[in-house]
Amino acid sequence: MNAQAGTPATFDVQRIRADFPLLARTVHGKPLVYFDNANTSQKPYQVIEAVDRHYREHNANVSRAVHLLGEEATAAYEGARDALARFIHAPSRDELVLTSGTTQAANLVAYSFALPRLRPGDAILTTVLEHHANIVPWQLVAGRAGATVKAAPIDERGELIVEQYLAMLTPEVKLACVGHVSNVLGTVNPVREIAKECRKRGIPLFVDGSQAVPHRAVDVQALGCDFYALTGHKMLAPTGTGALWAKKEHLDAMPPFFGGGDMIREVRFDGTTFADVPHKFEAGTPNIAGFAGVAAAIDYYDALGFEALRAHEKSLLEHATARLRDIPGLRIFGEAADKEPVISFLIEGAQATDLATLLDLEGVAVRSGHHCAHPLMQFFGIPATLRASLAFYNTHAEVDAFVAALLKVRKLLR
Ligand code: PMP
Repeated sequence: MNAQAGTPATFDVQRIRADFPLLARTVHGKPLVYFDNANTSQKPYQVIEAVDRHYREHNANVSRAVHLLGEEATAAYEGARDALARFIHAPSRDELVLTSGTTQAANLVAYSFALPRLRPGDAILTTVLEHHANIVPWQLVAGRAGATVKAAPIDERGELIVEQYLAMLTPEVKLACVGHVSNVLGTVNPVREIAKECRKRGIPLFVDGSQAVPHRAVDVQALGCDFYALTGHKMLAPTGTGALWAKKEHLDAMPPFFGGGDMIREVRFDGTTFADVPHKFEAGTPNIAGFAGVAAAIDYYDALGFEALRAHEKSLLEHATARLRDIPGLRIFGEAADKEPVISFLIEGAQATDLATLLDLEGVAVRSGHHCAHPLMQFFGIPATLRASLAFYNTHAEVDAFVAALLKVRKLLR
């Protein structure tokens, strides 16, 4: 069998792996198989060196200093904004608010956009499939306003029931939310279709893109949403980086969320005025070195190209799914027609955490637990799953090593 069927001949995964120093290490004396990419990705040396270079050669604070280092640090930070705008095809760099990640982006939308618009009896619509970051911020502001959070259902395959989502877009809904890709099941939601229906009804749409941007080219204009949140650490960049893209009209209308330095025009006790967007949302010193890493991460994706990456990941997903389906007593959760390389599963008679702990001893890093998606676990009536989440730098041989380790540890639990 050609284990690499589907991977383009030009996609040299071994050469790519050589860019990721951590992939060469061993864990408990075994070669590492890192299948926890939906949790956080590993970083190529191009990103690591960009961060290192920033501290060695350019370190200063942004926007404040007139000296050369200050200009260089500002150029690095603002360069990341340009790169992110290009990466998701935003119409303007000024529509990109740099954040610490998706969680901060969602909370910014919750407090600055949703809360001022919510009246008692209003609602925010999300789905059963979401990460807590696309549920809890809405609950917090809905609770303050006397509004509610509604959740659109999914089916047994882990696909959003789109007709029901659309039927729930009633006039009291002041914000609709959906994840682009599920972190637990890999399900890709039909954002474009949902956005079109939201527009017809005049309801703004927030999209959690955390799990989409590492796997596919995203074009926020083609998607037609109002807000798109992403996180850097899942897309090769350092932790503590991310962004919120929002339509300029929304950003202009939103009051600042965090107050402090860098977000003001003039501070007076008889009335402070604020900087223009996006700076009015970026109080305090940001993760400058981290954003130097974001720009390098985007350069990395640009050089690789999503087309080849996707073909390889699709081939990996098919291989892993087929191998897992052969294991008696194993149930895969999430069998959407359109899914990214994330596989949640359970094996009859074995606890997810026990399996993950034993797999770790075999060098295999997978996640076990609720994956910050309690409502989804409640839907399936389970407390946890094991999740193998793959990236473009994973190999078919690693899938085979993972399956062999799984068969071995399952025997130990019998
Ligand atoms: N949404 C989804 C779908 C996620 O997978 C995650 C991270 N697990 C988040 C939001 C939270 O993002 P961050 O780590 O940037 O806070």
